[in-house]
Amino acid sequence: MADAVRTARDGIRRLVVIVDDEHVNRRLLGKIIEKDYDVIYAEDGREALDLIKKREKTLSMILLDIMMPNMDGYEVLEKLREDPDLSRIPVIVLTSERSAEVRSLQLGAADFIPKPYDMPQVILARVRRSIELAEDNSIISATENDALTGLYTKDFFFQHGRRHDQYYPDVPMDAIVINVNRFRLINELHGRLFGDTVITTIAGQLNRILDEADGIACRSDADSFYLYILHRENYEAMLNRIVTVISEVSGNSRISLRMGVYSNADMSVDIETRFDRASFACNSLRNNYNTGFTLYDNSMHEKELYSEKLIGDMDTGVEERQFKVYYQPKYNITGIEPVLSSAEALIRWQHPEYGMVGPANFIPLFEENGLVQKLDHYVWREAAAQIKRWKDKYGITIPISVNVSRIDIYDPELEQKLLNIVKENGLEPYEYLLEITESAYTDNSEQIIETVKKLREDGFRVEMDDFGAGYSSLNMLATLPIDALKLDMVFIRKLGEDDKGLKMVQLMIDIAKFLRIPVIAEGVETKEQYELLKKVGCDVIQGFYFSKPVPAEEFEKLIEAALNQR
Ligand code: C2E
Ligand code: MG
Ligand code: MG
Repeated sequence: MADAVRTARDGIRRLVVIVDDEHVNRRLLGKIIEKDYDVIYAEDGREALDLIKKREKTLSMILLDIMMPNMDGYEVLEKLREDPDLSRIPVIVLTSERSAEVRSLQLGAADFIPKPYDMPQVILARVRRSIELAEDNSIISATENDALTGLYTKDFFFQHGRRHDQYYPDVPMDAIVINVNRFRLINELHGRLFGDTVITTIAGQLNRILDEADGIACRSDADSFYLYILHRENYEAMLNRIVTVISEVSGNSRISLRMGVYSNADMSVDIETRFDRASFACNSLRNNYNTGFTLYDNSMHEKELYSEKLIGDMDTGVEERQFKVYYQPKYNITGIEPVLSSAEALIRWQHPEYGMVGPANFIPLFEENGLVQKLDHYVWREAAAQIKRWKDKYGITIPISVNVSRIDIYDPELEQKLLNIVKENGLEPYEYLLEITESAYTDNSEQIIETVKKLREDGFRVEMDDFGAGYSSLNMLATLPIDALKLDMVFIRKLGEDDKGLKMVQLMIDIAKFLRIPVIAEGVETKEQYELLKKVGCDVIQGFYFSKPVPAEEFEKLIEAALNQR
């Protein structure tokens, strides 16, 4: 649409009330503005006030005659001014008397339209400008547009979304969140400029979508977009089209998107919450590296409530020691008989309502909001104290590995905290093992390499967890300072399946051997897996084949068995 004939910047038709006791005047003015605005009418002040109160939420403008029976225009102005909800609606006074202007101004009128109505364009311009001014006043955000994409900023987006809801409360809308999978890695592999191209291409495609369907869009975060648009049934075509264009523009066909849709969103919850839900759906696809979308539904809502409950219960859980540290043994299998070599500390939550809750239910959740640090510190302390207890009791060190979350890596005091924990428990760093997940390396390789270097200089031993589950290339291994590689369970699963699975594991072990990095296989459940791994030269094994993670008392039986074996 050309700007000159546009009703409003966002294309939404505003509602205007014309208040005049003379039929001819109402019709004349109505004719002028009705092509750009929805118009309702009142015949005197009292009727006008009733109507305004009823339509308060959706009304954008009052065109008010002064001389009227029952209640005149001045009185209406006064009444409007007294009510904070109504006073936001701009009023233009319709008058043929200049003297009325000053008094109306004093009473809060925004502008005048002189009678008779002989300049329709001027009238339209005044109406439009007064509405815009009033709306801008209510939008007190610093910047309207995101510099890189030209889309709305998040604040502005929500303001416009709220306004849209105000005018069209009954129009079904979808809240959509779109994210780029592995955006950090894309930036790292191809450079920021390339990353920017991906972002601007998505923005361009969103604009294209908005040309065809009512709605608004913003960039909410580096690689995250919000789209608020008229409800539709099919998202697949839309999503595929964006991905196709990205691949055309960037020349890279491996960039994928995930999309969460809160379809036909519940208008009774605020717009931020609606987008939280779409984000929740989108996040559920986080570990899926293909392009795809998912709908927010009831089961997700329940999961969300469950998540909220867990977040709310965490502090009490720590205070009341509901969190239990279990230990799973790792066995060195390079000799004739497997030898107990260390253990991994794994947390569980003995929740008062839900019973025993596994870490997969709460660790990723607590990672999202930073709560995980508190839990990790708790586990780190418990594990250190446990090493010391066993050392005192059995005269040997059973090194225990603790999981270091990727959030911990950003903590500038991480090194000092770990050193303190070790020292407080009378241990040396080499008795303590740290597991850092592979995805932390790919997320932020520079920071992590630096952190790991320092930790290793202090004497800590660092194992790379879940190797192969993420994106790092084998090539990356050469630059990473680590003491052991924990092969992700998925490889162990594939071991028995076919020849290819075994060859993969063989290859990884060979490369690790070349780099002199010992390999730990986790998730080993069967004798067959154990024997295959032994054959291809795997050094250490962890898995149900030997033992599940168990409480400390139970773990002692394994220590005692190991001691008797000697
Ligand atoms: P992870 O560090 O890779 O831990 C190994 C997971 O594999 C554990 O699950 C363990 O119980 C499971 N497992 C071990 N052997 C087998 C097997 O033979 N078969 C199968 N199917 N599973 C096996 P768990 O305890 O549920 O922990 C899941 C993940 O939660 C851990 O994966 C780790 O990433 C995280 N986690 C656990 N405790 C902590 C903690 O204290 N802090 C942090 N940040 N993360 C933790
Ligand atoms: Mg681990
Ligand atoms: Mg693991």
